[in-house]
Amino acid sequence: MSKVTFTAIGGGAEIGANSYLLSADGHDVLLDCGIHPKKEGREALPEFHHLKRAPEAVIVSHAHIDHCGAVPYLMREFPSTECYATQPTVKIMDRMLHNSVSVMGTLAVERGIKEYPLYTHSDVEYVIRRSYGLAFEREFALTWDSPFRASFHPSGHVLGSASVLLRVPGHTVFYTGDVCMTHQELMAGLTLLDKSAEVTTLIIESTRGTHEQGHAITFEGETLRFAREMTRVLEQGGVVLVPSFALGRTQELLNVISRLQESGQVPDAPVYASGLGRAIYEIYDKYTDHLRPDSTLRPLYEFKRIGDVWDPEVRHDLLKGPAVIVATSGMMVENTPSSMIAMELVKFRKHGLFFVGYLDPDTLGYQLLHAKTGDELRFELNGPPVKIKLDNRQSFNFSAHATREDLCKLIDHIAPRNVVFVHGDPEATAWMRDNTDSAYRKFIPTTGEAIELDS
Ligand SMILES: [Zn+2]
Ligand SMILES: [Zn+2]
Repeated sequence: MSKVTFTAIGGGAEIGANSYLLSADGHDVLLDCGIHPKKEGREALPEFHHLKRAPEAVIVSHAHIDHCGAVPYLMREFPSTECYATQPTVKIMDRMLHNSVSVMGTLAVERGIKEYPLYTHSDVEYVIRRSYGLAFEREFALTWDSPFRASFHPSGHVLGSASVLLRVPGHTVFYTGDVCMTHQELMAGLTLLDKSAEVTTLIIESTRGTHEQGHAITFEGETLRFAREMTRVLEQGGVVLVPSFALGRTQELLNVISRLQESGQVPDAPVYASGLGRAIYEIYDKYTDHLRPDSTLRPLYEFKRIGDVWDPEVRHDLLKGPAVIVATSGMMVENTPSSMIAMELVKFRKHGLFFVGYLDPDTLGYQLLHAKTGDELRFELNGPPVKIKLDNRQSFNFSAHATREDLCKLIDHIAPRNVVFVHGDPEATAWMRDNTDSAYRKFIPTTGEAIELDS
């Protein structure tokens, strides 16, 4: 019977740089290895000093940067560690990590962050060479002498996203990764784990643990409101800018918009998509068998390229309208395509700015959504402030995360002995703990705290 110890080295009691260490019989495995979305430099990495030896493997649940962004750094420190993920996730990680190197390179110059880039393009190439892309629902051994057996299970969040079932003799761990229980436009909701798995310890995300009106808003209801508001802008010759995450939200929304146009619910205006979102779209196109069987993935050429938005003439041409522009970044970080286009867009009243995901209060996106008309904001790091004339700034709820009520149902379905709440703000993890059955042994670990898990 193996004794299992859990240590969050990132993502304990916060959204954070998700990375969870499991130790059993002198073997270590890391679940995810992300970059903190709000911190900079080495501060953004998981706390690697808690690793006493090279983990034999890092298992990546999906390719969002807060789950995989620190893998190249880890594997430079520990070159013998191997990386496991699903096949699409390895392909998307390749794109996302190379993009991270470029973004860090830019920040090194613009903000003078000397530690950047934290890793190089050749570090990323090393990771991808040492990554195993595996099929869903098939158990594999990590290394020849490892006590761990693992398998991936569809988690419904983005292409390739998986929950991880990890077994050692006498103890079974299930790590949800990011989960979505309901169908999205392209992704089918999570497949419930078979009860025969007999999970001892469940490690569950708590991202939406503070969101109250989970059931009042449906995907279809929100889609209809999105269509109505978009039509209003397009009919007056305006442009709708939709800041969007490159992985998941962009591919989903482009297909929602196409469907609405095909059914006549939204006027037939050109639809634009920005660079990284397009690159990932090509991977969605290679793995259509991983999407909902009844979904239609439109060909990428239906969506126009937005061009070099740092060129004022390109921005000016884009806003001649009517048009819909889906551009990264979702939270509108300064100097990204969405912020560069917004800088021009907010000078006019006829356009629309539609946010579609979570906005951290520290981001430009949040400030812009909540700004009063006439306020001034900066869209480029060193640029001049711009006066906001656009009133039509709205937010739509298209989350790819399970509601907190659904997460509680998932816990009861799996019925483990231990529940470890991770990847959520303190209020979120506390709500999850307080609203689940007292029969479970529940843990909210802080980063660095080792927890012994009984069988
Ligand atoms: Zn995610
Ligand atoms: Zn996440």
